[in-house]
Amino acid sequence: MSEKAYQSDVTELKKILRSHSIQPSHHRLQVLSYLKNHRVHPTADMIYQHISAKIHTLSKTTVYNTLKIFSEKGIVRELNIDEHELRYDINVEPHAHFKCVKCGKLFDVFDKTLLPDREMVDGHIVSKIDVYLQGTCKECAGKE
Ligand SMILES: [Zn+2]
Ligand SMILES: [Zn+2]
Repeated sequence: MSEKAYQSDVTELKKILRSHSIQPSHHRLQVLSYLKNHRVHPTADMIYQHISAKIHTLSKTTVYNTLKIFSEKGIVRELNIDEHELRYDINVEPHAHFKCVKCGKLFDVFDKTLLPDREMVDGHIVSKIDVYLQGTCKECAGKE
C-alpha cells in the first residue's frame, strides 16, 4: 500500500483504535493499516516483514505486543487453524475458514449454515465459534 493511501485513511484508523481504548501510536497504526488492507489472515511474521521493510524502528516484539492488545480489545481474532502458526483476522464477525492444503491459502467462508444461529447449544452457552474446513481451493482444483 502506498504512503499516500495510508495517510488518507489514518484518521479512520485512529478512530478505530480510540474506540477500543487503544492509544494510537505510529506502530499500532501501521499494523492496523496492514491488517485492513491485506485480507490474507497474516501471521505476525508476515506483518513484521512487510512493515519493517519501510519502518526500520519496528521490532518483532512490538508487532507481537500490538497484536496481543488488538486481540484482547476485540479488533482482531486469532486463528489457530494450524498448530504451527497463529494467524490474525481483522474481520471479527462470525464466519468460517477454509484452508487449502495445496497452496496454503486461508479463505473466508460466509456460509451461515456452517455456523450455529443461536447462543445455546445442548444447554451449553457458546462464547467462541471456530469453524475450519480443509481441502483443495477452487483455484488449485482448476489447475488439476
Ligand atoms: Zn489452493
Ligand atoms: Zn476470516
